[in-house]
Amino acid sequence: MSDAELGKLLPNDEHNRVLVENVHPSKWTNPEPSGRYNIVVLGAGTAGLVTAIIAAGLGAKVALVEKHLMGGDCLNVGCVPSKGVIRAARAWADLRKVGEYGLHIPLAVKYDFGAAMARMRKLRARISYNDSAQRYTKLGVDVYIGSGRFIDADAIQVEGPAGNRLLKFARAAICTGGRAAIPPTPGLKEAGYLTNETVFSLTELPQRLGVIGAGPIGCEMAQSFARFGSQVYLIEAMHGILPNEDRDAAEIVEQQMVKDGVKLLCCGKDLQVTQTDQGRRLTVNSHGQHYDVTVDEILVAVGRTPNVEGLGLETVGVEFDRSGVKVDGRLQTTNSRIFAAGDICSRYKFTHAADAMAQIVIQNALFPHPFGLGYANIDSLVIPWCTFTQPELAHVGLYEKDAKAKGIEMETYTFRLDEVDRAILDGTAEGFSRIHIQKATDKILGATIVAAHAGDLISEFTLAMKAGAGAKTIASTIHPYPTQAEVNKKVVNLWRKAHFTQGTKNKLMKLFAWMRRG
Ligand SMILES: Cc1cc2nc3c(=O)[nH]c(=O)nc-3n(C[C@H](O)[C@H](O)[C@H](O)COP(=O)(O)OP(=O)(O)OC[C@H]3O[C@@H](n4cnc5c(N)ncnc54)[C@H](O)[C@@H]3O)c2cc1C
Repeated sequence: MSDAELGKLLPNDEHNRVLVENVHPSKWTNPEPSGRYNIVVLGAGTAGLVTAIIAAGLGAKVALVEKHLMGGDCLNVGCVPSKGVIRAARAWADLRKVGEYGLHIPLAVKYDFGAAMARMRKLRARISYNDSAQRYTKLGVDVYIGSGRFIDADAIQVEGPAGNRLLKFARAAICTGGRAAIPPTPGLKEAGYLTNETVFSLTELPQRLGVIGAGPIGCEMAQSFARFGSQVYLIEAMHGILPNEDRDAAEIVEQQMVKDGVKLLCCGKDLQVTQTDQGRRLTVNSHGQHYDVTVDEILVAVGRTPNVEGLGLETVGVEFDRSGVKVDGRLQTTNSRIFAAGDICSRYKFTHAADAMAQIVIQNALFPHPFGLGYANIDSLVIPWCTFTQPELAHVGLYEKDAKAKGIEMETYTFRLDEVDRAILDGTAEGFSRIHIQKATDKILGATIVAAHAGDLISEFTLAMKAGAGAKTIASTIHPYPTQAEVNKKVVNLWRKAHFTQGTKNKLMKLFAWMRRG
């Protein structure tokens, strides 16, 4: 790997060396291709890995091409390191509250940010074997390390130090993901900034951190660094945090982040950055007030840009635009032999969505209708997601605003966690479960949960929606006591109670009166 690429994986310690040997082995030699592949997969992030491994498992001849690090964003600079950092930050935050549980720790506690980051790197390296070139080779995938590009209707050229190769394909899958979008903020480029590709290489805690963008990545990192002890300024152009989420839910997360010490500068306008002797100076207008703050580092987290450049997409007639490669519901591009999956073609930029899309690509690319299983369609997916702040905020299906826009009539019920025994006992009673049910039916259209483990709790509603099980099924499902998952049953019971009408009660009263007759 070039120094620039390795730079993303600093420090050059034993953990990162293990990681690199797994996902970009230094002495790798690319295989010599023999004949045409059933499928050539460009990019070995989640979408590419899953496509390749399932296809090989089914007996197809598969090539997987990765120019940087197998595992893509998720393993190297996304979900895995961020959740490692979040875990450590939560431990630090919990420690500050242990007095409440009767544990009085000495004041001279030593906080070691470097050790917390080393733990993350160690665990990331441990997990990396799953995505390694060695493992995929053993499982029957031809792994090519190098940059891939379409050069003909049925050919991809791989170029890199591990050997240039020409791969012929019957089908191809574009799984090249994305990278951090950089806003045109005056002075930002000159002052320098971190993105998700570099923030996890920090070994020293920035005393002052500016985070631009209060979406999921910005919020997760802003809260974590505030908990580590940085003075964090979170700058967001829209109102509040997590602008796409249910406002009541986002506000609960926002309140906790403010308690954790994050200074939120939302509705931010005219942001400018300048490099000064004291650090990076940010000036911004938030809610009509001018702010002028100086920080040691700036983290940019304003969204993602698709990796479409240098792929030779024009050569093979694959259309794309600023949001990525264009696909239809079957994940077929404008070239019928070429498919796409993951962040490169989806507004659902999540690992589990990339995984689900890879499975759709396999079915549609390798088992073409009418010989195969019938087409799989992305519209059939029920995709939940979660922002892993504390509390977590998870969602599946429609929001109220979506239902309004589509003219769907629905009823919304909310049950607060401060009425759930386990949440009270755990000291995590801020939050709620909110459910949207189609009017005159028990069909669940969507749900939002804010809770310590909302990411786990949302699966109950996701399963119900996928299986077509309605609110009645959840209401009649036994939940162990005391668990936080009871909140899901309690919110559904609100719907049940609301539908227990006076008319029904009157009929029952008549029945009971009859049963009491002499
Ligand atoms: C900080 C952060 C935290 C996140 N946390 C979560 C989370 O908690 N949960 C969740 O579900 N999602 C999370 N995500 C999103 C998740 O990481 C992505 O949705 C997922 O990685 C998408 O997978 P992918 O395969 O589409 O793309 P990627 O993971 O981006 O992989 C694409 C691969 O293609 C390679 N490539 C590009 N061009 C070429 C080429 N020409 N030739 C060969 N290879 C090429 C790239 O090097 C890369 O390895 C997070 C993302 C970030 C940045």
